[in-house]
Amino acid sequence: MRYSGFRVFTQGLRGNTGWTPAWRKPAPKPAYDIVIIGGGGHGLSTAYYLAKNHGLKNIAVLEKGYLGGGNVGRNTTIVRANYFLPGNQEFYSHSLKLWEGLEGELNYNVMHSQRGLINLFHSDGQRDAFARRGNAMLAQGDDAILLDREGVRKHLPYLDFEQTRFPIYGGLYHPRGGTARHDAVAWGYARGADRRGVDLIENCEVTGIDIQNGKVTGVQTTRGPIRAKKVAMVAAGRSGQVAAMAGMRLPIESHILQAFVTEGLKPVIDHVVSFGMGHFYISQSDKGGLVFGGDLDFYASYAARGNLPMVEHVMEAGMTLMPMIGRAKVLRSWGGIMDMSPDGSPIIDKTGVEGLYVNCGWNYGGFKAVPASGYCLAHLIATDQPHPVAARFRLDRFRTGRGLMDEEGTGSQHNLH
Ligand SMILES: Cc1cc2nc3c(=O)[nH]c(=O)nc-3n(C[C@H](O)[C@H](O)[C@H](O)COP(=O)(O)OP(=O)(O)OC[C@H]3O[C@@H](n4cnc5c(N)ncnc54)[C@H](O)[C@@H]3O)c2cc1C
Repeated sequence: MRYSGFRVFTQGLRGNTGWTPAWRKPAPKPAYDIVIIGGGGHGLSTAYYLAKNHGLKNIAVLEKGYLGGGNVGRNTTIVRANYFLPGNQEFYSHSLKLWEGLEGELNYNVMHSQRGLINLFHSDGQRDAFARRGNAMLAQGDDAILLDREGVRKHLPYLDFEQTRFPIYGGLYHPRGGTARHDAVAWGYARGADRRGVDLIENCEVTGIDIQNGKVTGVQTTRGPIRAKKVAMVAAGRSGQVAAMAGMRLPIESHILQAFVTEGLKPVIDHVVSFGMGHFYISQSDKGGLVFGGDLDFYASYAARGNLPMVEHVMEAGMTLMPMIGRAKVLRSWGGIMDMSPDGSPIIDKTGVEGLYVNCGWNYGGFKAVPASGYCLAHLIATDQPHPVAARFRLDRFRTGRGLMDEEGTGSQHNLH
């Protein structure tokens, strides 16, 4: 079923009785050409682009819970292309371009809103670092504007500019940055993949990976064994556990990151704002809730919930930057499991097992990467060659030390930022 304004109108007249499910619920087949482990944003977009760009059909996405129940539906929804280092720059630039055409492409309203992102800076040294970053963004063909203090005040008059500890010197403005509705992205890719024949199998946990003579042959699941010529591990925070099923130890630590939402308010924050000294970022959802987050909980864990010390830390940072939010009531908070790589940059690569691929290490930033990650992993699986914009996301950089991309502010060494 194609979605359109006309369809909404006619369905409204008929009491919304004619909508069909957005994707099928097939039983797993005994064998597929390609099995993707993990029905998050990255797994679903990989399946979509395998079918759409490479014409492949016999594909299954195996999800242990429900589609969108992982980090893709738990994040603070920030979408941007303001990375500094070669490797990350071209990849996130490509991703933002895919975002810009995504709703038309998927025929799905993912509520992508390019409301502009402002990263604040609070010292001369930080201004220099942001000026360099802005130049790198412009050189990549993306947009960046260095604002002075008065420039920031025009956009964000509600900030506390006079706070003495971290006075606001200015900000790096990225007008094409913004937000999207996180779970709609998962649903949009799921529907697009399903329409192209991909089987999306929920409540199907992978419990083992079958390997014979150095080649992958299939997976064991809670719904029985499934043979496969190629298998991709796209399990985000659970990547380490899934890779262990193939006898691999990944350079990944799993940490909790929390998010918070207030009661619905009238429009007050019309950008995405991040605090340069307090690890705090905020936007306002279309329903009116202030959506914000901060740093990782300072210990490794597989529990998808956070603890109170980080709650206090995030609230303090928010109150320092914009004391007005102290009057809002926090309604909900939750946690997701981050797959933190040592250099803060991702991995999209083949493994030492023939036919087995890995996609992980998305850290805090994997939501904005969803389109390009699937695009590039699909390219790798279909052609066995890395896509040019993801060519540096190699697994062996952690073994050799060559090609590390230490993107400050995203790595697992949160205490060193
Ligand atoms: C609080 C929070 C805020 C964030 N904010 C942002 C942000 O503002 N911007 C940004 O770009 N990124 C952000 N992120 C990061 C981003 O959400 C993640 O990097 C990204 O969603 C991870 O990829 P995914 O969508 O594929 O993960 P997931 O949705 O977690 O998908 C992985 C899936 O694998 C499944 N799985 C695991 N093990 C198995 C198994 N054995 N068998 C079958 N299935 C399995 C899981 O159930 C899960 O559904 C944030 C994350 C969190 C938690």
